[in-house]
Order: sequence, then C-alpha cells, then structure tokens
Amino acid sequence: MAECIFCKIVEGAIPSQKVYETEKVVAFLDINPIAFGHTLVMPKAHHETFTDVPADLLAEVARAAQGVARGVLKATGAEGFNLLMNNRRCAGQAIDHAHFHVIPRRNADGIKFQWNMKKYAEGEIEKQAEAIRAALK
Ligand code: 5GP
Ligand code: ZN
Repeated sequence: MAECIFCKIVEGAIPSQKVYETEKVVAFLDINPIAFGHTLVMPKAHHETFTDVPADLLAEVARAAQGVARGVLKATGAEGFNLLMNNRRCAGQAIDHAHFHVIPRRNADGIKFQWNMKKYAEGEIEKQAEAIRAALK
C-alpha cells in the first residue's frame, strides 16, 4: 500500500528501530510509546485488521509477538505487559496495517486503560452468547 506508513517502514522508506525481523514479520519500537520499550509486531504484508490477516501468517505474528514480549520484559525489566490490538477507528486504530502492541508494564506505573464496564440485564448474557455461537457456525 503506497500510502501506508507501516508498509513504508517495512520497505525502509521511513526509518524505524527494528528489533526483530523474519521474512514475513517485523517488530519495531513505537515512536510515541505508552511506556519505554513499547513495541509493535506485525506482518510485513499489508492487511488492515486482525480478521483480515490469513491464519497461517497470524500464527507467525503471534509466535513473534511472544518472543518479542519475552525480549521486551528482559530488556526493560518490566514486571508485566499488555498485548493489544486496535481494530478500526472506533477501537482506536490509527494506522490501517494490522499490528499488535507489546507494552511493558510495572506495578504503579500509573498507566490506565479506561474500561467502563457494563452489566447485562436479566437474560441478556444468554442471548448474546447464543447470537455469537450462531455467528460462529
Ligand atoms: P494504532 O492506534 O493504529 O493501534 O497504533 C498506531 C501506533 O503507531 C501508535 O502507537 C503510534 O505511536 C505509532 N506510530 C505512528 N506513526 C509511527 C511511525 O512513523 N513510526 C513508528 N515507529 N511508530 C509510529
Ligand atoms: Zn501497510
């Protein structure tokens, strides 16, 4: 994709701090980290979201993300990490080239992801589950 920043990073047309690379996968530091060492892991091929990435490639990305997470923990001394992915604008995706975030975390680091939890009304959790089970068939 000519206009995609992350494709340009893959090509080397935009500089980045790459920390891991295979034929099909690359990981590099996020330029505006939530925590130092915040790393992005993604397929080199342009796919927009999680559900667009072919399953075999996704498995390679997941394997890479696990290794990268171990490396980030070791290098930063972090006590934990968030592995997350934003899909589409409504979910916070800014760059339409699917990528996982590996965000190193520490106790009392003050980072907050604000989740406003809801409660299901009586009988609604069963209906919701049934709708998803039906969609998965
Ligand atoms: P998203 O919101 O799409 O899940 O995350 C995009 C991430 O890409 C953001 O965390 C942002 O800081 C990072 N980012 C945006 N532009 C660049 C860039 O040119 N280089 C690097 N290394 N990261 C970028
Ligand atoms: Zn791209």
